[in-house]
Amino acid sequence: MLKLINIYKEYASDSDRVVALKGINLSFRRHEFVSILGPSGCGKTTLLNLIGGLDQYSAGDLVIAGKSTRDFRDRDWDAYRNHSVGFVFQSYNLIPHQSVLSNVELALTLSGMSKAKRRKKALAALEKVGLKDQVKKRPNQLSGGQMQRVAIARALAGDPEIVLADEPTGALDSATSIQIMDLLKEIAKDKLVIMVTHNPALANDYSTRIIQLLDGQVQSDSNPYTDTETIAPKEKKEKKPSMSRRTALSLSLNNLMTKKGRAILTSFAGSIGIIGIALILSLSNGINAYIESVQEKTLATTPLTLQAESVDLSGLMTTLMRMRRGDDKSAHARDAVYSSNVMNDLIRSLNSAKVQKNNLALFKEYLEKDETIRSYLSHIHYSYDLGFHILTQTDDGKIAVSNLEKIMEEVLEGMGTTQGMVNQNNASFGNVSLWQEMLPEPDQTGINHILKD
Ligand code: ADP
Ligand code: MG
Repeated sequence: MLKLINIYKEYASDSDRVVALKGINLSFRRHEFVSILGPSGCGKTTLLNLIGGLDQYSAGDLVIAGKSTRDFRDRDWDAYRNHSVGFVFQSYNLIPHQSVLSNVELALTLSGMSKAKRRKKALAALEKVGLKDQVKKRPNQLSGGQMQRVAIARALAGDPEIVLADEPTGALDSATSIQIMDLLKEIAKDKLVIMVTHNPALANDYSTRIIQLLDGQVQSDSNPYTDTETIAPKEKKEKKPSMSRRTALSLSLNNLMTKKGRAILTSFAGSIGIIGIALILSLSNGINAYIESVQEKTLATTPLTLQAESVDLSGLMTTLMRMRRGDDKSAHARDAVYSSNVMNDLIRSLNSAKVQKNNLALFKEYLEKDETIRSYLSHIHYSYDLGFHILTQTDDGKIAVSNLEKIMEEVLEGMGTTQGMVNQNNASFGNVSLWQEMLPEPDQTGINHILKD
């Protein structure tokens, strides 16, 4: 059932090396009550920890149910510890702020049982150790013997094949120790119990086999197990029977139904995740498209305009800025009086504003020749400096000239201004056009000629 083959355990630190176990060879029966005796520091705890999978051996092999553990992975050790071994410690190791029942139940959480099943098993284990009426108490409301019995119940709850106890009576008086030993003896009827103890009398009275350790080696074994003994058939194997596909399906369906809340929540959360991702994707796609269309529209309504002639107004701007800032104060001598020639400056800079001419004919040639620039443009629109002479028929049948000059004249006349002012003002209306050409459908070149010569 459990076999240790030439087990070595060495603790190495920077300064020294301790060999705690020096070649242990032991075999254990399916159910027996083994006591391990020996002086302090001889390696008892180390041996127990190795058997329970709490620590790893340095050399040798531990064979569990006929299977070598040499290439066990963490997962295999976890499964072994969770399902096959129960631990009882001298110091009980109970969680103080949890009830007795929760302490025992906690040991079962890792086994993936349902809450109802865990409760049932925990209650059964507590009943077995005689604490059924104390389940609601906290560990600190119990005596030492009772606490150790809780620890034993915890070890038994998962129905392990092996129970390992490290000095379980070490902190108890003799009367209470006897109760615990009775309990362990009872458990050993159908389990393998391996107990480390300092008390040879108790070991002699209760256990079925005594192993003496000394300095990391087996000194004596009262009842060694030989492979020639017939092995009782493994009833335990029934625990993991193989089942038909149909049973498995119905069981998992069953499982799904008993955990309805969890299943619904999981699928709900999953769908939220999927829908969320889809939403975000579509949102970002939509926003990208929107931004693109806005960009295109904006650029279409505020096009780049190149004109044949432009006036450089930067000189005027500078003058205006200077006026606002009251420039060059520092250069003035104190208490001196200076004139501020605002109007003079303005007029001078207006007069000096240069008219710049662009060679649009050359530019047009370039636009039509160069293919690459075309890909950055959605539209090219040429307009030519032609003054339309537009005549309209008014309501009373008269023919009127509708050009801007004429209209402004009439408007201003209506406001009682003089002809002279209108003429003066004309200059500033020069850029305003009464007519705006509509953009036609682009031809194949993407270039519009409003007026084809
Ligand atoms: P026992 O339980 O019989 O009193 P242990 O198994 O606890 O003895 O210890 C056996 C030897 O191994 C001792 O010499 C101890 O100092 C040493 N030992 C135990 N655990 C460790 C460890 N984690 N690191 C280093 N040395 C250890
Ligand atoms: Mg010890």
